[in-house]
Amino acid sequence: MQENHNFILAVEDLTVSFDGFKAVDGLSFYIEPNECRVIIGPNGAGKTTVLDLICGRTRATAGSIDFKGSELTRMREDQIVHAGVGRKFQTPSVYEDLSVFENLEISYPRGHTVLGALTFRRDAEVEARIRDIAETIFLGDMLQERAAILSHGQKQWLEIGMLLIQDPQLMMLDEPVAGMSVAERKKTAELLNRIIRDRAVIVIEHDMGFVADIATRVTVMHQGKRLSEGSMAHVQADPKVVEVYLGH
Ligand code: ADP
Ligand code: MG
Repeated sequence: MQENHNFILAVEDLTVSFDGFKAVDGLSFYIEPNECRVIIGPNGAGKTTVLDLICGRTRATAGSIDFKGSELTRMREDQIVHAGVGRKFQTPSVYEDLSVFENLEISYPRGHTVLGALTFRRDAEVEARIRDIAETIFLGDMLQERAAILSHGQKQWLEIGMLLIQDPQLMMLDEPVAGMSVAERKKTAELLNRIIRDRAVIVIEHDMGFVADIATRVTVMHQGKRLSEGSMAHVQADPKVVEVYLGH
């Protein structure tokens, strides 16, 4: 463990083996609060598996994941969410038949209630928060629209909003701009730069222009291991990175 540093997340010697194949192999990295860490690397490098391990969807074979003093490798997925880790998957999974407002509303953390997700009391505080988030994700004018009519990019933003409303201290996004237009990519970079004022973010991404717009630091993965790490300029100039990834 690196001492004297207030990391929000410390991943150390993380390993997962699927039938003997190590998809993640002795990986260590450290995330600071308000950092936007981008993980890049060739297909099959183990990037998505790292997010699966952090959010508890996949169990580690060895190693540790310390999030603000909690050992995530021993926690269930719902406990990890409750501890403040939010994760967005590659394909948007908004509720098409619900409005933008309702999608955000059902994502609002309500604690334990016997009422169904849609019947909880809509108080002024919740509504103000929903409007605030909708502005942030560029959907302030579309609250009453059905999610089905949104563009692919707008659905991605809505799903980011559904995470934001839970106010996670660590947010993880897997290829958030895949399938987006250039204009939508620019707006997503703007959105992420706003989001990291209040939390740390881990993003997996291939679009190097987008990475340059958002990354605090970049971790390059290859064959389950950390190949390189540092600023965008540092990893771009690293011959190992050029050889296995950027040169192609
Ligand atoms: P990346 O996101 O970097 O493209 P992944 O993390 O999705 O890579 O996958 C890394 C490797 O682990 C791949 O070879 C993939 O086939 C394998 N893998 C991922 N999840 C599983 C699993 N649940 N069972 C077996 N193999 C898996
Ligand atoms: Mg992946």
